[in-house]
Amino acid sequence: MKKRVTLVAPFYNESGNVLEFFQRVRQIADTMPQYEFEVVAVNDGSRDATWSELLQAQALHSGVHLVDLSRNFGKEAALTAGLDRATGDAVVPIDSDLQHPPELLPDMLAHWEKGAEVVLARRVDRQGDGLLQKLSAVSFYHFHNKISQVKVPLNVGDFRLMDRRVVDALRQLPENHRFMKGLFAWVGFRTVTIPYQPNERVAGVSSFNLWKLWNLALEGITSFSTVPLKIWSYVGLVVSLLALVYASVIVVKTLVFGIDTPGYASLMASVMFIGGVQLIGIGVLGEYVGRIYHEVKRRPVYLVREEHTTGSAAGVAEDRVERA
Ligand code: UDP
Ligand code: MG
Repeated sequence: MKKRVTLVAPFYNESGNVLEFFQRVRQIADTMPQYEFEVVAVNDGSRDATWSELLQAQALHSGVHLVDLSRNFGKEAALTAGLDRATGDAVVPIDSDLQHPPELLPDMLAHWEKGAEVVLARRVDRQGDGLLQKLSAVSFYHFHNKISQVKVPLNVGDFRLMDRRVVDALRQLPENHRFMKGLFAWVGFRTVTIPYQPNERVAGVSSFNLWKLWNLALEGITSFSTVPLKIWSYVGLVVSLLALVYASVIVVKTLVFGIDTPGYASLMASVMFIGGVQLIGIGVLGEYVGRIYHEVKRRPVYLVREEHTTGSAAGVAEDRVERA
């Protein structure tokens, strides 16, 4: 029996990249006949021709499993949908805009065959990223890793090969809010890192703007650390101590020099400062409470409109379901 390799590709408004993506994957798959390749393509509520192009691609290639989500759920949810359907002994999440070169697959598979359970692909440089993006990425990972038990490696994205065991472990994680990079790191397993040069996007534009990235960063930090919550006890302690010291100074000054009424400016400044600090504390609390709120509703991570399996992949997929 051939070993089975599943590529999980999320598609969001990738019209123009679809056919090329499948061609490139096919080309590289053909050089490795010892494996059976399957592509699970998840359409994440695209508003362009992506879905019809995916149907076209499925007619052209074998082993393509298509999933159409009912709306845009975000990349993390789309990946989850893909991982839920992947039947491979090894599974590789890969961007559909071809920024993740499929040509890295032979290398990844070689490491997997040698016993690695996770093969991470690390970007050697973030060409195409502006200085601001680079700096914010570096500082985010630095900050995240300082305050979290789970360390997320720098310049490593979702592009990686995972053994079946790792995928099964990931699928057991019950959370709705899925910060994939963190979850990947959390499950652990024997890991090897290989470098790669990311490509330019083939067509279209990146759907991650600064605001989305900021929210992703918040997601990452709140998912894996409670330090921002706990820090407020210490901030409060320091501020109270300072206030106590200052109060004693005022009392002594008044006793020695008599009453001195002016002080409106300093009074306002300190009231507003403390007010601001309290609001930040409440805001941080809100971030966590909001996440608890979303989490306890236990809504599904994604909803599927339709799903198509074809070719050899279908047979094996059904076989797996029957065995399960
Ligand atoms: N993507 C998705 N849902 C979204 C946004 C993006 O499935 O809401 C997919 C997109 O089709 C691509 C991958 O996630 O395959 C990476 O997205 P993008 O290229 O926009 O991000 P970047 O490469 O700039 O990080
Ligand atoms: Mg991209």
